[in-house]
Amino acid sequence: MQAEIIAVGSELLTPDRIDTNSLFLTQRLNHLGIAVARKTLVGDQHDHVRDAFRSALDRCDLVVASGGLGPTLDDLTREAVAELLGRKLVLNSSVLQNIEARFRRLGRSMPEVNKRQAMVPEGAELLENPRGTAPGLWLESAGRIVVLLPGPPHELKAMFTEKVEPRLEPMAGATRLFYREMRTAGLTESEVEQRTAPIYTQYPDVQTTILAAPGEIQLHLRAWSSNHPAAERMLDEMIERIGFALGENVFTSNGQTLEEIVAREMAINQATVATAESCTGGLLAERLTRVPGSSSYFRGGVVCYSNDLKTAWTDVPAELIESKGAVSPEVAQALAQGIRRRIGATLGIGITGIAGPSGGSPEKPIGLVYIALADANGSRDRALRFPGDRERIRWHASQAALDMLRRYFIYARHGKPSWPTVVQS
Ligand code: AMP
Ligand code: MG
Repeated sequence: MQAEIIAVGSELLTPDRIDTNSLFLTQRLNHLGIAVARKTLVGDQHDHVRDAFRSALDRCDLVVASGGLGPTLDDLTREAVAELLGRKLVLNSSVLQNIEARFRRLGRSMPEVNKRQAMVPEGAELLENPRGTAPGLWLESAGRIVVLLPGPPHELKAMFTEKVEPRLEPMAGATRLFYREMRTAGLTESEVEQRTAPIYTQYPDVQTTILAAPGEIQLHLRAWSSNHPAAERMLDEMIERIGFALGENVFTSNGQTLEEIVAREMAINQATVATAESCTGGLLAERLTRVPGSSSYFRGGVVCYSNDLKTAWTDVPAELIESKGAVSPEVAQALAQGIRRRIGATLGIGITGIAGPSGGSPEKPIGLVYIALADANGSRDRALRFPGDRERIRWHASQAALDMLRRYFIYARHGKPSWPTVVQS
């Protein structure tokens, strides 16, 4: 079964809003074994909406659409689809009562415009919307299915999982999408490609894509199959072989973030961490605390941007800053040791660097970042050169610091103290 998605809304054709509904719908449809062949974005113009549905229905069996079911005049998906399918719009009194009741519960009376949302194309089945006023609509015509969903993402998501998926599931057939997502840190895209191409090209039934994200390279493996155990086995085998080729640079095989992996390591090792950040301005602490339960391992941190606060808060000697410069391996190590001691954590991280756009020099160029990790036995640092603008440099630095934490535990287990020297995207 193949589907097309239509996102209706003039705002989606401006620079202000992006269509996120289709990402969710694609994920859920794929999960059911339904491939998405095409997506269309169309503004709130009757003829354009009608034509978009007409073309999609010429090509596939299932059209899932979002948006344009609101009460205002620019919401005309209902009208356009009814016209295309030759159905009359009829006022549905139970929908109208539901909408009126919803307004009463909120202590208001229903505005006259909302009556439009109770207009239902003849023969359409209603998809109840407990989170909003517009019901969804399920229409069948000449063996094709059209599903109309409201635009607000929280309404659409609930309606799709609760009302649409149970109807689609029996029609979808045995073919399912099987999926793995490996993520690596510390390798370039071409290194990942070179090491893995000899392996993944041996699996023509698996669609393998290598994607560069800031500070990490991802491998997405996708296989459509009706033999579920065989597909799982094939992907597991690939993951194992690719994992062997990429070594400890792989941090997940199921799409987890680096901060989630660090969280797991911290918990397993009963470690705690404290941070002293300069050029990342707290980004590392922010990412560490994104993970629920982070209070069990993240003790706290400081943003010590100015030199005197590096001294006051983490005991970096003023003479050291004077003689080596604030951006130096020595200061990074002193930050890591100082914050670890002050806060009383198992581990301390210090970050100092030049995020730009000003402040670079031939000896200390923009993008130069020193990151140090301290434990009870001392500290070590890494010098890194990151590409890109201020935002990218700061993100890369936080990513490298998280990766340093992750590797700390791996190297503690395997006794292999080598850090990748350059992290690029
Ligand atoms: P509508 O059902 O067209 O009245 O849409 C209501 C609201 O839902 C819009 O103002 C958008 O904020 C949101 N919305 C509509 N379509 C999408 C989409 N494809 N992705 C994300 N949000 C959307
Ligand atoms: Mg709209």
